[in-house]
Amino acid sequence: MPSFEKGLVELGEGLHAYLLPDGSWGLSNAGLIQGEGASLLVDTLFDLRLTREMLDAMDPLTSRAPIATLVNTHANGDHCWGNQLVGGAEVIASKATAEEMSRVTPAMMRMMVSVDFGPVLTPYLRERFGLFDFDGIEVPPPTRTFDGRIDLEVGGRRVEVIEVGPAHTDGDTLVHVPDARTVFTGDILFIGGTPIVWAGPVRNWVAACDRILALDAETIVPGHGPLSDRRGVEAVKRYLEFVWREASERKRAGMSALEAARDIELGEYADWGASERIVVNVDSIYRELDPQHPPANVLGLFLQMAEMAKR
Ligand SMILES: [Zn+2]
Repeated sequence: MPSFEKGLVELGEGLHAYLLPDGSWGLSNAGLIQGEGASLLVDTLFDLRLTREMLDAMDPLTSRAPIATLVNTHANGDHCWGNQLVGGAEVIASKATAEEMSRVTPAMMRMMVSVDFGPVLTPYLRERFGLFDFDGIEVPPPTRTFDGRIDLEVGGRRVEVIEVGPAHTDGDTLVHVPDARTVFTGDILFIGGTPIVWAGPVRNWVAACDRILALDAETIVPGHGPLSDRRGVEAVKRYLEFVWREASERKRAGMSALEAARDIELGEYADWGASERIVVNVDSIYRELDPQHPPANVLGLFLQMAEMAKR
């Protein structure tokens, strides 16, 4: 993982990112876009403590331009489980994201870090998710949903909200600030870490990378990891195309998804954080190639990742 600092980074006039090192599991980024007297927050964080800390850091900025709008880039908890602390704001998410937000609950994460799943999976989950506090989290449904794209105005400033999912999740969304040539990508981009294909299809995610490149932004704020530029987008796209190719070949050769994940030589991608996510990525690609492939079993996939991370 490349090193970067925690906290607010000024990207331009009235534009900030909030970064959480090291960008691994649950350590996600957010953004603050400010116009005349009003602000738009891109995503909250994984728990109430982290989100409160972020909102406190933003307070000198938001006291003169309160957060009127919150956009959630997708439904993973590390991007929306602090929503209840942003009182009074309009909360916007794609329709698919809103549906997924109601299915994935903090109680599931509490179960994952509290139940004993045996000597391999238990430490793997607790090391990654045990530092978060999943108590007291409520996720109110978004107040406004959309399909495709909506253009917003934040204190006189135009912000484009562009749905590109399903890819990482069911309803991934980009937030583009044209006047600052900046885009917040949510988890369409992991920088320094390995992308994880929970939903797919991979071709949609590749198309999402092309969509970001076509925006011709100068500053790209990933969902995880340090600030980036088009090279970061191109690297994620290359990784996805690589995994698609390698997994498809092995499926044709008759390997199981797990055999394929273990067999793929990651090469230049082996140094990316959480490279064991290849397990989930191959499983999702097998499902794309064969609708008969069983639906994702999240705990089973975490066990396979835990085993691979140990090797
Ligand atoms: Zn995330």
